[in-house]
Amino acid sequence: MRQGLHGQGASRGSALGRARVREPHALEVAEARVAPAEAEAELARLHAAIEQVRGEIRGMRDQLHGALAHEVGEFLDLHTLLLEDPELLHGLDELVRSGLYGADYALRLQRDRLAAVFEGMDDAYFRSRIEDIDHVIGRVHAALHDHEAELQGVAGEILVTDAIAPSEIGRLHAQGVLGIVTSGGSMLSHTAILARSLHLPLIVNAPQALGAINDGDVLVIDGSTGEIVIEPGPSDLRVYRARLREEKRERKQLRRLRREPSKTLDGVDIRLYANAESREDVAEAHALGAAGIGLYRTEFLFLQGREVPDEDAQFRAYRDLVLGMTGRTVTIRTLDIGADKADNSGLALRNEPNPALGLRGVRLSMARTGLLETQLRAIARASGYGPVRILVPMVSGREEVIAVRQLLTRVLKDLAREGQETAAQIALGAMIEVPSAAIALPTFARDLDFISIGTNDLVQYLLAADRNNDALGDLYSPLHPAVLRLVHSVVRVARARGMPASICGEIAGDARFTPLLLVLGIEELSLHPSPLLEVRRAIRALDLGHLRARAPALLRARDRAGIERWLDAVQPVHAAD
Ligand code: PEP
Ligand code: MG
Repeated sequence: MRQGLHGQGASRGSALGRARVREPHALEVAEARVAPAEAEAELARLHAAIEQVRGEIRGMRDQLHGALAHEVGEFLDLHTLLLEDPELLHGLDELVRSGLYGADYALRLQRDRLAAVFEGMDDAYFRSRIEDIDHVIGRVHAALHDHEAELQGVAGEILVTDAIAPSEIGRLHAQGVLGIVTSGGSMLSHTAILARSLHLPLIVNAPQALGAINDGDVLVIDGSTGEIVIEPGPSDLRVYRARLREEKRERKQLRRLRREPSKTLDGVDIRLYANAESREDVAEAHALGAAGIGLYRTEFLFLQGREVPDEDAQFRAYRDLVLGMTGRTVTIRTLDIGADKADNSGLALRNEPNPALGLRGVRLSMARTGLLETQLRAIARASGYGPVRILVPMVSGREEVIAVRQLLTRVLKDLAREGQETAAQIALGAMIEVPSAAIALPTFARDLDFISIGTNDLVQYLLAADRNNDALGDLYSPLHPAVLRLVHSVVRVARARGMPASICGEIAGDARFTPLLLVLGIEELSLHPSPLLEVRRAIRALDLGHLRARAPALLRARDRAGIERWLDAVQPVHAAD
């Protein structure tokens, strides 16, 4: 019988398919003991299973490629860390050796112990790490019994479950899963971000879904509104088909913009650069007519393997990037490892008390100048193949820029002496993502050739709201008067000097925010290629002159609701075909 449910739309798109229900993962294992003489063999079995899972994760890590490789890699690394955790391993050994518990029951006890520690934490981010513990322990349990731990998606089905790990989402998409409904989860989770980049419809926070939906039920889901219809009737199917037609029409309309300029109605050229890390991103950016690469996060190279890539390995990666963009400018960001981006090679400190405020980005580069020198040499060598700019992350003031500039000057001289071909000069820019750099920009703007505003971190540091903490909900939001005022003042400083200024945080890729960014004076955006055409369409439908007349109203907005109202009032209407 037809039934309607509601969740939160987390990734747009509609889907019609049969439900595949995965019950919440719980390790239900009965108490079982082993004889003292069997304890060592049982322990060996357990360690072999752990080793097998480590190998599986390594294998998944090595195969990562494409747009999501970097994000998914971070989660796999977290799972590897859990499997290497002395607390976990020691506890398991004790339980089997001294408690004489069977491997399965030891796993269950250890899972419950660790979960109890995390459950007791005030911090919602840490509490949510229980999902990772369950995932890892579940894999080891499956390995002990030689069965598949991975959730297998089935083409044409809609998955209904309690939660999806970010590391699962790419695979489910590749297997042809049409959409996902989760009883928990949040729109801000990494899983949701990944689903959006894959254009995979996702509804989160639908608490009744697991109780109401049965395996094999036919579902219609709408990832924009969060609407779920179980066993849809004829009128639901009509609505669904109309929605599909609308989505298809929109895709077709967008495709036509591939070769069109990103110009406002009153003729202002807005340069759209791409945030790109993989070969696929670069190819897509090129095909969609991106002005160049506005952000290449080099940590991706460092996060891939266990070894720090040497100068030649880095040079080849940067050179290929430059060649891939056939003469369009490529902005290479120096290493931004640290905080939530921990690596396998051990560069980032693992136990800083407050890593987001710790040794990350240029701070790590300054502490390890050998590393920075190698990186600058590799980038400078790549500049012999096409236009390159260097972007420095996590700058908090002038000193860091001066230090990098001095090193870059020396590196260029050294390379010239060695007979290496490089550009005569390379533009050096700073990410403006630490509030001190944003506020003090007038004191060091003359030391810079360009800036790129990193709103992902600027919002986090300005509002003291962790960008990875789903529990903060709306608190972590660029729609705060403090953020808008600060970005506005940064852009004014840059424009007064005629210095290029772009925005490369996630906000640049959300077409709803395009009018707001243009009003703040931004004329360059750098965004992931997937929403590039939507943003171009928004630009082409805006009259910047008219919009600028509304700037004072935006800057006067007193709260998020006021900014939302302003945004609603200026959204362009796109003509139908
Ligand atoms: C930012 O902080 O906005 C940014 C683009 O950099 P990242 O997301 O890599 O920190
Ligand atoms: Mg940043």
